[in-house]
Amino acid sequence: MNRWLAPRRRVRRVVDLDPRSLVDRGIRAVVFDLDNTLLPYSAKELEPAILQWFEAFRAAGLRGAVVSNAFFGRAGRAAEHLGLMIVRGAPKPNPMRLRRAMARLETRPDQTAVIGDQLFTDMLPGNVLGMYTILVDPLAPGEFISTRLMRILEWIAGRRDGDSFPGPHGR
Ligand SMILES: [Mg+2]
Repeated sequence: MNRWLAPRRRVRRVVDLDPRSLVDRGIRAVVFDLDNTLLPYSAKELEPAILQWFEAFRAAGLRGAVVSNAFFGRAGRAAEHLGLMIVRGAPKPNPMRLRRAMARLETRPDQTAVIGDQLFTDMLPGNVLGMYTILVDPLAPGEFISTRLMRILEWIAGRRDGDSFPGPHGR
């Protein structure tokens, strides 16, 4: 897989991640993708498991922001519900959005993780900026057409190589 697309770490879902393991490696804040990472594309409400996970997230002393290309209606409400800072601006995968998120979180790239379900819109800009990139499996299959197109590009880029993402960073 292309080194700019390869995540530094991969988990099935956000809730499979131990927030303390992020703190242990020097991470102070996390920038989250919303659609299909925290909230299934088809859902309006956050799962109780996600709400519970964010309690552990805050207890670990981490701060969070959310970037999304769609902050109308359900997405904005979900971000507010989680008490996350909302970062708007140039649409992903433009790295300026992540840069703005870090400015507001007051963290450097090496202190900031980005968690998302897509290689091109989440992993690529995070890797370009030197952030700690974490890829999750998408929560639900229903997606925008443009997202489907991204999936095809990801397939071409070799996401279907298998479960391991050796990349340049190791695991
Ligand atoms: Mg997403």
